[in-house]
Amino acid sequence: MGLSTDSIHGGQWKDPLSGAVMVPIYQTSTYEQDELGKHRGYEYARTGNPTRKALEDCVALLENGAVGFAFGSGMAAIQALLTLFKSGDHIVVSANTYGGTFRLFDKILTKWDMSFSYVDTTNVAAIEAAIKKNTKLLFLETPTNPMLQLTDIRAACEVASAHEVLTVVDNTFATPCIQQPLNLGADFVVHSTTKYMNGHSDCVGGVLIAREERWREPLHFVQNSAGAILGPMDSWLTLRGLKTLVPRMRLHQENATLVASHIAGLDGNHRTIFPTLEDFPQKELFLKQMKGPGGIVSVALDHFERAKRFLEGLKLFCLAESLGGVESLACHPASMTHAAVPEKERALLGITDGLVRLSVGLEDVEDLIRDIDQAWNLAH
Ligand SMILES: *Cc1c(COP(=O)(O)O)cnc(C)c1O
Repeated sequence: MGLSTDSIHGGQWKDPLSGAVMVPIYQTSTYEQDELGKHRGYEYARTGNPTRKALEDCVALLENGAVGFAFGSGMAAIQALLTLFKSGDHIVVSANTYGGTFRLFDKILTKWDMSFSYVDTTNVAAIEAAIKKNTKLLFLETPTNPMLQLTDIRAACEVASAHEVLTVVDNTFATPCIQQPLNLGADFVVHSTTKYMNGHSDCVGGVLIAREERWREPLHFVQNSAGAILGPMDSWLTLRGLKTLVPRMRLHQENATLVASHIAGLDGNHRTIFPTLEDFPQKELFLKQMKGPGGIVSVALDHFERAKRFLEGLKLFCLAESLGGVESLACHPASMTHAAVPEKERALLGITDGLVRLSVGLEDVEDLIRDIDQAWNLAH
């Protein structure tokens, strides 16, 4: 089936008790057993919950995986995957990965003697050069936040698998509407469903999807043992959000494309970063790997004061962290999402003090552009 059909029906059923068209919220911690040692597939809700299962089966279908698991946040999903590895293992990571991922690796997992190399994965040769004898996982994020740098997923997976290294792609920014990493050779996909997958900025969650059936048991074991599950209400909200993923992504991209080309044409000393623009540096890879440009537009203004005036001048765009919801958000990566990254490192990544990131929402694009124009005038 197509992505729209799967997002609406995948993993879901009509309630046999009442005929309810929507999967109910099974707000329960435990389940009646028919006799000693005989239950109906559910014993305790950390181990399994029907609402969560519907979401897990749905996201597995959307990413074309064998199995999916839902967690209390994107970070919990990433942490669950990392528990498959052990002290002494080495992991190669995209240099400009999400700040929370870097913090988990750098501040927590290094305490357990796992080691990490942060590599410019846009350069496949650099990935290969970073692989050591004890390398077990390649952790990719593409497009990156907020510079929208792309890694060639297929080429990276080929290099990794030639060295018997597993690959995971954080697909939060792209969603399966734009790219399906498992089809390009990745072993796992993770999402912060907090962003586009749920899409309504009303709950935090994460999913982990594996391409092969052989990961069902080990990953369920981790989910059940460590216990960072997504609750029934949030599973249901995310399932509801997913039903409109395809049309939402279509409109996010349509609006973002118009916003990006509008900003690129404004007067001033700035650079607009968006895959459909002429000067996007990885045009060829974008066209090969992605079905669309996504909904994030980054704008490098010439200095901090201008970025501050622009951000504070916006009225419809809300000044906030996060992204991927129906409402438009604006943020200042250097002081907000990437504040924990050392200044020198930020400069290397291009995250200057003048950089602004827009998560373009689903409002009328004329209203968004009018808002940008008035804030732009205040800033220039
Ligand atoms: C937000 C985000 C995460 C972390 O997800 P949470 O749901 O906030 O825990 C991981 N990766 C990317 C790319 C993100 O944007």
